[in-house]
Amino acid sequence: MSAPNKSYDPVEVEALKPEEIARRRDEALAAIAAAGDLEALREVKVAHTGDRSPLALANREIGALPPHAKADAGKRVGQARGQVNQALKARQEELEAERDARVLVEEAVDVTLPYDRTPAGARHPITTLSERIEDVFVAMGYEVAEGPEVEAEWFNFDALNFPPDHPAREMQDTFFVQGAEEGETSGVVLRTHTSPVQIRSMIDRKPPIYVICPGRTFRTDELDATHTPVFHQVELLAIDEGLTMADLKGTLDHMVRALFGEGMSTRLRPNFFPFTEPSAEMDMLCYVCRGESVGNPDRPCRTCSSEGWIELGGCGMVNPRVLIACGLDPEKYSGFAFGFGIERMLMFRHNVEDMRDMVEGDVRFTRPFGMEI
Ligand SMILES: [Zn+2]
Repeated sequence: MSAPNKSYDPVEVEALKPEEIARRRDEALAAIAAAGDLEALREVKVAHTGDRSPLALANREIGALPPHAKADAGKRVGQARGQVNQALKARQEELEAERDARVLVEEAVDVTLPYDRTPAGARHPITTLSERIEDVFVAMGYEVAEGPEVEAEWFNFDALNFPPDHPAREMQDTFFVQGAEEGETSGVVLRTHTSPVQIRSMIDRKPPIYVICPGRTFRTDELDATHTPVFHQVELLAIDEGLTMADLKGTLDHMVRALFGEGMSTRLRPNFFPFTEPSAEMDMLCYVCRGESVGNPDRPCRTCSSEGWIELGGCGMVNPRVLIACGLDPEKYSGFAFGFGIERMLMFRHNVEDMRDMVEGDVRFTRPFGMEI
Protein backbone atom coordinates (compact mmCIF):
# COMPACT_ATOMS: atom_id res chain seq x y z
CA MET A 1 0.00 0.00 0.00
CA SER A 2 1.58 3.18 -1.16
CA ALA A 3 -0.33 5.57 1.01
CA PRO A 4 -2.30 5.12 4.17
CA ASN A 5 -5.93 4.64 3.39
CA LYS A 6 -7.61 7.49 5.20
CA SER A 7 -10.89 5.69 5.24
CA TYR A 8 -9.46 3.14 7.65
CA ASP A 9 -9.66 3.51 11.29
CA PRO A 10 -6.24 4.04 12.76
CA VAL A 11 -6.77 0.81 14.52
CA GLU A 12 -6.31 -1.12 11.37
CA VAL A 13 -7.30 -4.72 11.39
CA GLU A 14 -4.38 -6.77 10.12
CA ALA A 15 -6.57 -9.36 8.43
CA LEU A 16 -8.42 -6.73 6.42
CA LYS A 17 -5.44 -5.02 4.93
CA PRO A 18 -5.70 -5.10 1.15
CA GLU A 19 -2.38 -6.86 0.72
CA GLU A 20 -3.33 -9.41 3.34
CA ILE A 21 -6.65 -10.08 1.63
CA ALA A 22 -4.82 -10.37 -1.69
CA ARG A 23 -2.28 -12.74 -0.18
CA ARG A 24 -4.98 -14.94 1.31
CA ARG A 25 -6.88 -14.88 -1.97
CA ASP A 26 -3.79 -15.79 -3.95
CA GLU A 27 -3.00 -18.58 -1.52
CA ALA A 28 -6.50 -19.93 -1.98
CA LEU A 29 -6.31 -19.64 -5.79
CA ALA A 30 -2.93 -21.39 -5.84
CA ALA A 31 -4.24 -24.19 -3.62
CA ILE A 32 -7.29 -24.57 -5.86
CA ALA A 33 -5.17 -24.75 -8.96
CA ALA A 34 -2.90 -27.30 -7.29
CA ALA A 35 -5.74 -29.60 -6.21
CA GLY A 36 -5.19 -32.70 -8.33
CA ASP A 37 -8.50 -34.43 -7.65
CA LEU A 38 -11.90 -33.83 -6.16
CA GLU A 39 -10.83 -35.12 -2.76
CA ALA A 40 -7.94 -32.63 -2.60
CA LEU A 41 -10.25 -29.87 -3.80
CA ARG A 42 -12.68 -30.67 -1.00
CA GLU A 43 -9.88 -30.13 1.51
CA VAL A 44 -8.86 -26.89 -0.19
CA LYS A 45 -12.47 -25.75 -0.05
CA VAL A 46 -12.70 -26.33 3.71
CA ALA A 47 -9.34 -24.65 4.30
CA HIS A 48 -10.05 -21.57 2.19
CA THR A 49 -13.79 -21.01 2.32
CA GLY A 50 -14.80 -22.78 5.53
CA ASP A 51 -15.81 -21.02 8.74
CA ARG A 52 -12.23 -21.11 10.00
CA SER A 53 -10.64 -20.01 6.71
CA PRO A 54 -8.60 -16.75 6.73
CA LEU A 55 -11.05 -14.93 4.45
CA ALA A 56 -14.05 -16.00 6.52
CA LEU A 57 -12.29 -14.86 9.63
CA ALA A 58 -11.42 -11.58 7.93
CA ASN A 59 -15.03 -11.17 6.96
CA ARG A 60 -16.00 -11.46 10.59
CA GLU A 61 -13.68 -8.61 11.46
CA ILE A 62 -15.66 -6.26 9.23
CA GLY A 63 -18.37 -5.93 11.84
CA ALA A 64 -15.91 -4.44 14.24
CA LEU A 65 -14.85 -1.71 11.80
CA PRO A 66 -16.12 1.81 12.07
CA PRO A 67 -19.06 2.42 9.71
CA HIS A 68 -17.15 4.39 7.07
CA ALA A 69 -14.59 1.59 6.68
CA LYS A 70 -17.05 -1.25 6.49
CA ALA A 71 -18.10 -0.81 2.87
CA ASP A 72 -14.58 -0.63 1.57
CA ALA A 73 -13.37 -3.64 3.52
CA GLY A 74 -16.56 -5.53 2.81
CA LYS A 75 -16.12 -4.97 -0.90
CA ARG A 76 -12.53 -6.11 -0.84
CA VAL A 77 -13.21 -9.25 1.16
CA GLY A 78 -16.33 -9.97 -0.84
CA GLN A 79 -14.44 -9.69 -4.11
CA ALA A 80 -11.68 -11.94 -2.85
CA ARG A 81 -14.15 -14.55 -1.62
CA GLY A 82 -16.05 -14.28 -4.88
CA GLN A 83 -12.91 -14.94 -6.86
CA VAL A 84 -12.04 -17.91 -4.67
CA ASN A 85 -15.53 -19.36 -4.98
CA GLN A 86 -15.51 -18.87 -8.71
CA ALA A 87 -12.12 -20.56 -9.01
CA LEU A 88 -13.38 -23.38 -6.80
CA LYS A 89 -16.42 -23.88 -8.97
CA ALA A 90 -14.38 -23.83 -12.16
CA ARG A 91 -11.83 -26.26 -10.76
CA GLN A 92 -14.63 -28.49 -9.45
CA GLU A 93 -16.17 -28.68 -12.93
CA GLU A 94 -12.81 -29.31 -14.47
CA LEU A 95 -12.01 -32.15 -12.09
CA GLU A 96 -15.47 -33.65 -12.47
CA ALA A 97 -15.11 -33.63 -16.22
CA GLU A 98 -11.72 -35.31 -15.89
CA ARG A 99 -13.16 -37.92 -13.56
CA ASP A 100 -16.09 -38.60 -15.89
CA ALA A 101 -13.79 -38.96 -18.84
CA ARG A 102 -11.58 -41.34 -16.87
CA VAL A 103 -14.55 -43.40 -15.69
CA LEU A 104 -15.78 -43.63 -19.25
CA VAL A 105 -12.48 -45.07 -20.31
CA GLU A 106 -11.80 -47.23 -17.27
CA GLU A 107 -15.26 -48.60 -16.76
CA ALA A 108 -16.28 -48.73 -20.35
CA VAL A 109 -18.18 -51.79 -21.51
CA ASP A 110 -17.05 -52.70 -24.98
CA VAL A 111 -20.33 -53.59 -26.60
CA THR A 112 -18.51 -54.89 -29.65
CA LEU A 113 -16.87 -57.68 -27.63
CA PRO A 114 -18.25 -61.09 -28.55
CA TYR A 115 -20.88 -62.14 -26.05
CA ASP A 116 -21.51 -65.65 -27.29
CA ARG A 117 -18.12 -67.27 -27.02
CA THR A 118 -18.82 -69.21 -23.87
CA PRO A 119 -17.06 -72.54 -24.35
CA ALA A 120 -19.83 -74.90 -25.30
CA GLY A 121 -17.80 -78.08 -25.15
CA ALA A 122 -18.15 -80.64 -27.84
CA ARG A 123 -19.61 -84.06 -28.34
CA HIS A 124 -17.12 -86.85 -28.65
CA PRO A 125 -16.26 -87.55 -32.30
CA ILE A 126 -16.82 -91.28 -31.70
CA THR A 127 -20.44 -90.45 -30.92
CA THR A 128 -20.94 -88.00 -33.77
CA LEU A 129 -19.26 -90.22 -36.36
CA SER A 130 -21.29 -93.19 -35.18
CA GLU A 131 -24.49 -91.16 -35.47
CA ARG A 132 -23.52 -89.94 -38.90
CA ILE A 133 -23.08 -93.53 -40.07
CA GLU A 134 -26.42 -94.48 -38.50
CA ASP A 135 -28.06 -91.60 -40.35
CA VAL A 136 -26.86 -92.95 -43.69
CA PHE A 137 -28.62 -96.24 -43.01
CA VAL A 138 -31.69 -94.84 -41.31
CA ALA A 139 -32.18 -92.84 -44.53
CA MET A 140 -32.19 -96.16 -46.41
CA GLY A 141 -34.88 -97.55 -44.11
CA TYR A 142 -32.66 -99.36 -41.62
CA GLU A 143 -33.49 -99.48 -37.94
CA VAL A 144 -30.96 -98.84 -35.15
CA ALA A 145 -30.72 -101.91 -32.89
CA GLU A 146 -28.94 -102.14 -29.58
CA GLY A 147 -28.05 -104.93 -27.20
CA PRO A 148 -26.35 -105.61 -23.88
CA GLU A 149 -22.61 -105.08 -23.47
CA VAL A 150 -22.42 -107.93 -20.99
CA GLU A 151 -23.51 -110.79 -23.20
CA ALA A 152 -24.14 -114.51 -23.01
CA GLU A 153 -21.34 -116.45 -24.63
CA TRP A 154 -23.94 -118.15 -26.80
CA PHE A 155 -24.94 -114.86 -28.45
CA ASN A 156 -21.37 -113.66 -28.73
CA PHE A 157 -19.87 -116.89 -30.14
CA ASP A 158 -22.03 -120.00 -30.54
CA ALA A 159 -24.88 -118.49 -32.51
CA LEU A 160 -22.31 -116.83 -34.77
CA ASN A 161 -20.82 -120.18 -35.70
CA PHE A 162 -17.66 -119.85 -33.61
CA PRO A 163 -16.68 -123.42 -32.77
CA PRO A 164 -15.99 -124.14 -29.08
CA ASP A 165 -12.25 -124.26 -29.72
CA HIS A 166 -12.08 -121.04 -31.76
CA PRO A 167 -9.06 -118.97 -30.67
CA ALA A 168 -11.23 -115.87 -30.17
CA ARG A 169 -12.80 -117.63 -27.22
CA GLU A 170 -9.55 -117.74 -25.35
CA MET A 171 -8.87 -115.68 -22.30
CA GLN A 172 -6.25 -113.56 -24.03
CA ASP A 173 -8.87 -112.09 -26.37
CA THR A 174 -12.07 -112.07 -24.39
CA PHE A 175 -13.09 -110.63 -21.04
CA PHE A 176 -14.90 -113.48 -19.32
CA VAL A 177 -17.27 -112.17 -16.70
CA GLN A 178 -18.50 -115.56 -15.60
CA GLY A 179 -17.66 -119.08 -16.72
CA ALA A 180 -20.30 -121.59 -17.80
CA GLU A 181 -22.12 -122.96 -14.79
CA GLU A 182 -22.42 -126.65 -14.02
CA GLY A 183 -24.49 -128.24 -16.75
CA GLU A 184 -24.59 -125.06 -18.86
CA THR A 185 -22.60 -124.41 -21.99
CA SER A 186 -22.71 -120.62 -22.08
CA GLY A 187 -20.79 -118.31 -19.79
CA VAL A 188 -20.98 -114.54 -19.71
CA VAL A 189 -18.56 -112.27 -21.54
CA LEU A 190 -18.12 -108.61 -22.37
CA ARG A 191 -19.16 -108.68 -26.01
CA THR A 192 -16.17 -108.81 -28.33
CA HIS A 193 -18.15 -107.40 -31.27
CA THR A 194 -21.61 -106.02 -31.93
CA SER A 195 -22.57 -109.19 -33.83
CA PRO A 196 -24.65 -110.59 -30.92
CA VAL A 197 -27.03 -107.71 -31.60
CA GLN A 198 -27.55 -109.18 -35.07
CA ILE A 199 -28.43 -112.53 -33.50
CA ARG A 200 -30.86 -110.86 -31.13
CA SER A 201 -32.39 -108.91 -34.03
CA MET A 202 -32.91 -112.09 -36.06
CA ILE A 203 -34.54 -113.80 -33.10
CA ASP A 204 -36.70 -110.82 -32.10
CA ARG A 205 -37.81 -109.65 -35.52
CA LYS A 206 -39.41 -111.24 -38.51
CA PRO A 207 -37.83 -110.78 -41.95
CA PRO A 208 -37.36 -108.57 -43.78
CA ILE A 209 -34.82 -107.33 -41.25
CA TYR A 210 -32.69 -104.25 -41.89
CA VAL A 211 -30.79 -103.15 -38.80
CA ILE A 212 -27.68 -101.17 -37.98
CA CYS A 213 -26.03 -102.01 -34.67
CA PRO A 214 -23.63 -99.44 -33.24
CA GLY A 215 -22.07 -100.04 -29.88
CA ARG A 216 -19.22 -100.50 -27.49
CA THR A 217 -17.16 -103.67 -27.62
CA PHE A 218 -14.38 -105.13 -25.51
CA ARG A 219 -11.21 -107.10 -26.03
CA THR A 220 -8.26 -107.80 -23.78
CA ASP A 221 -5.88 -105.43 -25.57
CA GLU A 222 -3.46 -103.16 -23.78
CA LEU A 223 -4.18 -99.47 -24.33
CA ASP A 224 -1.58 -98.10 -26.71
CA ALA A 225 -1.41 -95.89 -29.80
CA THR A 226 -3.24 -98.41 -31.98
CA HIS A 227 -5.19 -100.57 -29.50
CA THR A 228 -7.79 -99.98 -26.86
CA PRO A 229 -9.59 -102.59 -24.76
CA VAL A 230 -12.86 -100.69 -25.20
CA PHE A 231 -13.75 -99.69 -28.74
CA HIS A 232 -16.76 -99.08 -30.93
CA GLN A 233 -18.17 -100.92 -33.87
CA VAL A 234 -20.96 -100.44 -36.30
CA GLU A 235 -22.45 -103.55 -37.82
CA LEU A 236 -25.12 -103.91 -40.37
CA LEU A 237 -27.47 -106.75 -41.06
CA ALA A 238 -29.95 -107.22 -43.86
CA ILE A 239 -32.14 -110.32 -44.08
CA ASP A 240 -34.63 -110.65 -46.89
CA GLU A 241 -35.61 -112.90 -49.73
CA GLY A 242 -33.17 -112.95 -52.60
CA LEU A 243 -30.37 -110.78 -51.22
CA THR A 244 -27.02 -111.30 -52.92
CA MET A 245 -23.43 -110.07 -52.75
CA ALA A 246 -24.44 -107.46 -55.33
CA ASP A 247 -26.83 -105.90 -52.80
CA LEU A 248 -24.04 -105.90 -50.24
CA LYS A 249 -21.62 -104.25 -52.65
CA GLY A 250 -24.17 -101.61 -53.65
CA THR A 251 -24.91 -100.84 -50.02
CA LEU A 252 -21.21 -100.48 -49.21
CA ASP A 253 -20.63 -98.21 -52.19
CA HIS A 254 -23.54 -96.05 -51.16
CA MET A 255 -22.22 -95.83 -47.59
CA VAL A 256 -18.74 -94.65 -48.57
CA ARG A 257 -20.19 -92.12 -50.99
CA ALA A 258 -22.50 -90.79 -48.30
CA LEU A 259 -19.61 -90.53 -45.83
CA PHE A 260 -16.73 -89.50 -48.07
CA GLY A 261 -18.27 -87.96 -51.17
CA GLU A 262 -19.13 -88.76 -54.74
CA GLY A 263 -16.77 -90.91 -56.77
CA MET A 264 -15.99 -93.22 -53.85
CA SER A 265 -16.20 -96.97 -54.19
CA THR A 266 -15.30 -100.17 -52.38
CA ARG A 267 -13.65 -103.43 -53.27
CA LEU A 268 -13.99 -106.85 -51.69
CA ARG A 269 -11.17 -109.30 -51.03
CA PRO A 270 -11.92 -112.91 -50.05
CA ASN A 271 -11.49 -113.68 -46.38
CA PHE A 272 -12.92 -115.96 -43.74
CA PHE A 273 -15.26 -115.25 -40.84
CA PRO A 274 -17.27 -117.92 -39.03
CA PHE A 275 -20.55 -116.00 -39.35
CA THR A 276 -20.49 -115.18 -43.06
CA GLU A 277 -20.08 -117.33 -46.13
CA PRO A 278 -18.66 -116.15 -48.46
CA SER A 279 -16.73 -113.58 -46.45
CA ALA A 280 -14.71 -110.63 -47.62
CA GLU A 281 -12.47 -107.88 -46.41
CA MET A 282 -13.88 -104.57 -47.46
CA ASP A 283 -11.60 -101.77 -48.67
CA MET A 284 -12.68 -98.32 -49.64
CA LEU A 285 -11.01 -96.15 -52.23
CA CYS A 286 -8.63 -93.71 -50.52
CA TYR A 287 -10.74 -90.59 -50.16
CA VAL A 288 -7.63 -88.36 -50.19
CA CYS A 289 -5.75 -89.46 -53.32
CA ARG A 290 -8.57 -91.51 -54.90
CA GLY A 291 -5.96 -94.05 -55.90
CA GLU A 292 -3.80 -91.60 -57.78
CA SER A 293 -0.83 -92.15 -55.46
CA VAL A 294 -0.45 -95.76 -56.58
CA GLY A 295 2.80 -96.14 -58.52
CA ASN A 296 3.20 -92.38 -58.49
CA PRO A 297 6.20 -91.44 -56.31
CA ASP A 298 5.57 -87.75 -57.09
CA ARG A 299 2.24 -87.87 -55.29
CA PRO A 300 2.69 -90.00 -52.20
CA CYS A 301 -0.37 -90.35 -49.93
CA ARG A 302 -0.01 -90.67 -46.18
CA THR A 303 -3.61 -91.70 -45.62
CA CYS A 304 -3.41 -94.91 -47.65
CA SER A 305 0.40 -95.27 -47.66
CA SER A 306 0.11 -94.87 -51.45
CA GLU A 307 -1.85 -98.12 -51.69
CA GLY A 308 -4.94 -96.41 -53.09
CA TRP A 309 -7.27 -98.35 -50.81
CA ILE A 310 -8.04 -98.20 -47.10
CA GLU A 311 -9.08 -101.34 -45.27
CA LEU A 312 -12.38 -100.66 -43.58
CA GLY A 313 -13.82 -103.88 -42.17
CA GLY A 314 -15.26 -107.30 -42.81
CA CYS A 315 -18.41 -108.36 -44.58
CA GLY A 316 -20.14 -111.23 -46.30
CA MET A 317 -23.34 -113.17 -46.78
CA VAL A 318 -24.79 -114.40 -43.50
CA ASN A 319 -23.73 -118.01 -42.96
CA PRO A 320 -26.75 -120.35 -43.31
CA ARG A 321 -25.73 -121.93 -40.00
CA VAL A 322 -26.26 -118.55 -38.32
CA LEU A 323 -29.69 -118.24 -39.96
CA ILE A 324 -30.59 -121.71 -38.69
CA ALA A 325 -29.36 -120.86 -35.18
CA CYS A 326 -31.75 -117.90 -35.23
CA GLY A 327 -34.67 -119.95 -36.50
CA LEU A 328 -34.65 -118.63 -40.06
CA ASP A 329 -34.98 -120.82 -43.11
CA PRO A 330 -31.83 -120.45 -45.25
CA GLU A 331 -33.75 -121.82 -48.23
CA LYS A 332 -36.06 -118.85 -48.07
CA TYR A 333 -33.95 -116.08 -46.65
CA SER A 334 -30.50 -114.79 -47.28
CA GLY A 335 -28.72 -111.83 -45.84
CA PHE A 336 -25.59 -109.81 -45.74
CA ALA A 337 -23.67 -108.23 -42.91
CA PHE A 338 -20.70 -106.05 -42.45
CA GLY A 339 -18.99 -104.28 -39.63
CA PHE A 340 -16.11 -101.99 -38.89
CA GLY A 341 -14.46 -100.09 -36.07
CA ILE A 342 -15.40 -96.47 -35.51
CA GLU A 343 -12.04 -95.65 -33.91
CA ARG A 344 -10.23 -96.81 -37.01
CA MET A 345 -12.43 -94.76 -39.30
CA LEU A 346 -11.98 -91.74 -37.04
CA MET A 347 -8.21 -92.22 -37.19
CA PHE A 348 -7.91 -92.11 -40.94
CA ARG A 349 -10.81 -89.70 -41.49
CA HIS A 350 -9.36 -87.08 -39.13
CA ASN A 351 -5.68 -88.04 -39.00
CA VAL A 352 -5.87 -89.04 -35.35
CA GLU A 353 -2.57 -90.73 -34.73
CA ASP A 354 -2.92 -91.98 -31.19
CA MET A 355 -5.93 -93.99 -30.07
CA ARG A 356 -5.34 -92.97 -26.47
CA ASP A 357 -6.47 -89.45 -27.37
CA MET A 358 -9.93 -90.86 -27.99
CA VAL A 359 -10.33 -92.38 -24.54
CA GLU A 360 -8.63 -89.88 -22.28
CA GLY A 361 -11.53 -87.44 -22.26
CA ASP A 362 -9.37 -84.35 -22.81
CA VAL A 363 -11.56 -81.55 -24.17
CA ARG A 364 -8.62 -80.28 -26.19
CA PHE A 365 -9.08 -83.40 -28.32
CA THR A 366 -12.84 -83.19 -28.75
CA ARG A 367 -13.18 -79.41 -29.13
CA PRO A 368 -11.70 -79.11 -32.65
CA PHE A 369 -14.42 -81.45 -33.87
CA GLY A 370 -16.93 -78.80 -32.84
CA MET A 371 -20.47 -79.12 -31.65
CA GLU A 372 -21.53 -81.44 -34.45
CA ILE A 373 -25.11 -82.47 -33.95
ZN1 LIG B 1 -4.40 -92.20 -50.59
